[in-house]
Amino acid sequence: MHLQKRILITGGSGFLGSHLCERLLATGAEVICLDNFFTGTRRNIEHLIGQTRFELIRHDVTFPIYLEIDEIYNLACPASPVHYQHDPVQTTKTSVHGAINMLGLAKRTKAKILQASTSEVYGDPSVHPQNEEYWGNVNPIGMRSCYDEGKRCAETLFFDYRRQHKLRIKVARIFNTYGPRMHPNDGRVVSNFIVQALRGEDITIYGDGSQTRAFCYVDDLIHGLVSLMNTDDRVTGPINIGNPADVSMLELASTIINMTGSSSKIVHLPLPADDPRQRRPDITKAKLELAWEPKTQLGEGIARTIAYFEKLLKELP
Ligand code: NAD
Ligand code: UDP
Ligand code: UDP
Repeated sequence: MHLQKRILITGGSGFLGSHLCERLLATGAEVICLDNFFTGTRRNIEHLIGQTRFELIRHDVTFPIYLEIDEIYNLACPASPVHYQHDPVQTTKTSVHGAINMLGLAKRTKAKILQASTSEVYGDPSVHPQNEEYWGNVNPIGMRSCYDEGKRCAETLFFDYRRQHKLRIKVARIFNTYGPRMHPNDGRVVSNFIVQALRGEDITIYGDGSQTRAFCYVDDLIHGLVSLMNTDDRVTGPINIGNPADVSMLELASTIINMTGSSSKIVHLPLPADDPRQRRPDITKAKLELAWEPKTQLGEGIARTIAYFEKLLKELP
């Protein structure tokens, strides 16, 4: 007999997944972390291994799996361009076949299921800030398409399983998130700038640095995901989860240089193809339906992330 809730987290050893495992274990739930370790590492969840309510399964979500669970958080998918463009066909399979398998599992077990979607479904948006009504501006055949279109198709599957099979679904559109356990080499801007600043290397700004992003601290993001999962069954999303405070890449670089006291210089490199000019969530819906909004200021979150990378860089060979 199972008194505790059993929760499956796919991609549970990744950046967001590992924080989610911790958060849900703290609620008293049983947590099953499923991961193929493509971008996730054991290091992220090492401290959880051995806890009685924690279980780790090495598995690829593109293959079926039979488990008995009450809730699924489907996070499995490489998230940074360097990783998802490494094997783009596998990226699409992970989003699409992964969603089908997890939805099939939710259908059989009657579990509630949450999809980690992304602001990338809006592509290079022509509406600012983006609200959930906007359908997006996505290139279907570009370098980012395996990720963007894979995630869009996963959303389609979620809503069709709801319409066709009455599944209890939740779709979160996650905006740029940062914090401890980001990968040091995955090419994302916050980790790149911090690692470069700590090593005294040049800070690489792509383009003129006037493009903007809005960064959410990981703890706030996880709180948003859990709040969405715990809403009434009528709340399905899609719902934007992110921090609406935006900065330019130039401002971000100078904040990180100042906070690390680094002697690094800024250099400009070419802007990658299809790089969105600006991106910022409209979180009116999240405020209304989840009573959620981010609490962590950029400076505070960056300070904690710098502390994480300082320690990590000392430990790395
Ligand atoms: P991450 O790369 O750290 O985590 C993804 C995890 O999924 C890794 O542990 C990886 O090994 C695992 N994985 C990949 N393919 C798999 C497969 N086929 N089977 C099983 N496991 C697999 O990335 P993250 O930043 O933690 O992102 C988690 C989720 O949130 C992703 O779905 C991502 O698309 C979404 N997201 C993240 C952000 C962000 O800013 N971090 C923004 C938008 C959306
Ligand atoms: N599936 C799974 N675990 C389960 C149930 C289903 O991995 O507990 C997978 C299975 O591979 C199936 C997919 O989910 O192909 C979709 O399931 P669904 O019931 O929707 O479709 P069907 O089984 O009819 O193809
Ligand atoms: N970027 C940059 N220097 C870097 C890495 C990224 O200027 O070393 C820029 C990138 O071109 C983009 C922004 O920072 O305009 C955010 O990039 P990231 O890959 O973190 O996220 P995404 O493009 O998915 O929002």
